[in-house]
Amino acid sequence: MNKKPFVTKEKLEEITKTYPTPFHIYDEKGIRKNVAALKEAFSWNKGYKEYFAVKANANPYIMNILQEYGCGADCSSFTELMLSDACGLKGQELMFSSNETPAEEYLLARDLGAIINIDDFTHIEYLDKLFDGKFPKTMCCRYNPGGYFKISNDIMDNPGDSKYGMTGEQMFEAFTILKEKGVEEFGIHAFLASNTVTNEYYPILAKMLFELAVRIKRVTGVKIKFINLSGGIGIPYSPDMEPNNIYAIGDGVHEAYDEVFGKAGMTDVAIYTELGRYMLGPYGALVTKAIHFKHIYKEYVGVDSCAVDLMRPAMYGAYHHITVMGKEDKVPDHVYDVVGSLCENNDKFAIDRHLPEVEIGDLLYIHDTGAHGYSMGYNYNGKLKHAELLLKTDGDVQLIRRAETPLDYFSTLDISPVYDKLKNN
Ligand SMILES: *Cc1c(COP(=O)(O)O)cnc(C)c1O
Repeated sequence: MNKKPFVTKEKLEEITKTYPTPFHIYDEKGIRKNVAALKEAFSWNKGYKEYFAVKANANPYIMNILQEYGCGADCSSFTELMLSDACGLKGQELMFSSNETPAEEYLLARDLGAIINIDDFTHIEYLDKLFDGKFPKTMCCRYNPGGYFKISNDIMDNPGDSKYGMTGEQMFEAFTILKEKGVEEFGIHAFLASNTVTNEYYPILAKMLFELAVRIKRVTGVKIKFINLSGGIGIPYSPDMEPNNIYAIGDGVHEAYDEVFGKAGMTDVAIYTELGRYMLGPYGALVTKAIHFKHIYKEYVGVDSCAVDLMRPAMYGAYHHITVMGKEDKVPDHVYDVVGSLCENNDKFAIDRHLPEVEIGDLLYIHDTGAHGYSMGYNYNGKLKHAELLLKTDGDVQLIRRAETPLDYFSTLDISPVYDKLKNN
């Protein structure tokens, strides 16, 4: 697949006159087209709902776009709940899929009427005390089948080694207890493999969860309201990968649904998803400028951004494609490490990357940063996080989060006289 920026060099040059590099920029048109296709792919299921995984891109302007398409929000923390509430999402439009959850987060989730997705069996007792025995009407439990998760013979991930979810046995017990506590309707959730670039992940996961739901219903007699397939649909970060086909994925889940739930007479069960990466990944880019070269044992291009803006390469060795703007048609006959300014040797956006010759001032477009990009950032080395821009459908550009200033960074010191001195300088 030929990976092309969603914005031209001319447009970026115009944008940088108002908003200096580096920044993340998002493509409203792409976001809308993608969410519309997702909805269509699952339109066969009457109760279908996507709960956008807020952690992937916690910007209210982005969330508001998705909301127009009926998306709810999947939250995992106090502030994600606050943000989603502020976006106008109410009650069961909120999913709370957390783990090792502090009491105040559970209380906020309950007060907002969110669907609470319990990660662990022991949390039932914890919630029983916290909620004075009064559970919400709807509850969800997170399942972990253990072992390896395979598609054909390929190991996709290792749930047996993951901290999330309950064992099968615990699921049955959890539903039995929660039913006794007055819970009326239930959901089942599982997230078994991340960034899957195959159309088979969701259908295989769905079939497993549908079969579990049938057994749980038979044994415990509870009403299964929904199956939450969670996140995990991936995107082709590298140009040699084929993108997923969301219609094939929707059809695959539909087939499993008819096969398992059709037979069991459970055709009123809703399908929920909690996609993050798939919703936003390709529709964001980090735009940064080449500001230095370094010729030692390797050739380095130093850019004005660093891992605080995009951590995935440093954290996972993740590949992010890079386009040198205006040089798309030039031969990539140079080999560079593209590096940021952190005092950390893993601060490399690309290692041994073949690119056309880079010159000082060139704009580098780092692809696929729309999910788990800005939101995963941090402030190591006292580096400030940069702005987020939205390229609107009509071609206008809107600042949807300003860049941090030194005072933002120091603001948590405001109990100290040092802060006042900094403020007055
Ligand atoms: C991270 C996460 C998601 C989103 O995952 P993606 O890979 O971005 O689709 C959904 N649900 C839960 C519980 C998560 O932790």
